Amino acid sequence: MLAAEKVHTLSIARPQADQFRLAALHRYHILDTPACEDFSFLTELAAKVCEVPYAFISLVDAERVWIKSCTGMQMGELPRGESYCSLAVLGEAATEIPDLTQDFRTAGMALTVNAPFMRMYSSVALTSSDGFAIGTLCVMDTKPGGLNPEQHATLVKLARQVMALIELRANEKALEATVRELEQLATTDELTGLHNRRSLLHRLKFETARAKRFRSPLSAVMIDLDHFKRINDEYGHAVGDQVLASVGRLLRESVRVIDVPGRYGGEELCVILPNTPIEGACKFAESLRAKIEAQVHYAGPRLLPVTASLGVASFDHMEIADAESLLRQADASLYRAKHAGRNRVECSPN
Ligand code: GH3
Ligand code: MG
Ligand code: MG
Repeated sequence: MLAAEKVHTLSIARPQADQFRLAALHRYHILDTPACEDFSFLTELAAKVCEVPYAFISLVDAERVWIKSCTGMQMGELPRGESYCSLAVLGEAATEIPDLTQDFRTAGMALTVNAPFMRMYSSVALTSSDGFAIGTLCVMDTKPGGLNPEQHATLVKLARQVMALIELRANEKALEATVRELEQLATTDELTGLHNRRSLLHRLKFETARAKRFRSPLSAVMIDLDHFKRINDEYGHAVGDQVLASVGRLLRESVRVIDVPGRYGGEELCVILPNTPIEGACKFAESLRAKIEAQVHYAGPRLLPVTASLGVASFDHMEIADAESLLRQADASLYRAKHAGRNRVECSPN
């Protein structure tokens, strides 16, 4: 009964700007991250300096208090209404409750009335760079009391270290995301969404080395759109671009995750097929040819027939040479496909 009353008391006593405070907390992307020694070290230090058995790094979320690190007990999270830290983010930079059984707000809380029967709570708010208390560094004891000024001053400094670590982790995450985004931009062809030429050749080198190392077959398929110049000449460059983009999408959707589809240049596309012998590569090329022929393109109301010629080359594990020679062979096959009438697949060797 008493506990329920207290939960109720806390659930209405929230900072007015709680949504801004929560936004500040969520910007750090720290909630539900795995345990980490750097944070554990700081709670261990806080408990030691303050000469108490328990120390916590708590983050006060919308309905729960999530524990980033704790010393003295195992705890993942608890309902916001059952945490002393919910009080500590209400305004004061530091909160100390010398006897939790004597404070009407905390006397009925689970941690006070049940084991370990907490009596003393002292915390310093963790303040975000934009000034919101997102949580606390707090210490607790099963004896009533308080921190001496020196211990308090150290707890304040440790809280700053906790916050600096939270900022550092958030910055690292943002940096990693930016690097991934830049990598994606640097390796992707904007029009088709395929690997660009540089990335394709880079991956080809890598896959050639891997095929040699593991003695696995490696294939490449060169794809060149037929009479593409005519499409540009008759319907304009924008329509040509649109066709290229659609064929690019089709190619991306037709490959396995381990394959590397790329734009070799102009209207010439290429796929590297790791761990694929010549038979598999020719089958793949034939099915791709049929899909390209079946794909529907429009120039305004007019239906545009688009076909491609494809050349296949393979290294089996006995005769893997350099990466460039695989593409040269695929290109020679493609040349034969063009000369044999287009909209067809030629495999090398044949
Ligand atoms: P073939 O069947 O012999 O391959 O004939 P083709 O007309 O496709 O061959 P060619 O290599 O002579 O012409 C390729 C054309 O592709 C010329 C070029 O303007 C066009 N092209 C290359 N890159 C792009 C592009 O990014 N967008 C558009 N719209 N056209 C492109
Ligand atoms: Mg062409
Ligand atoms: Mg061409």
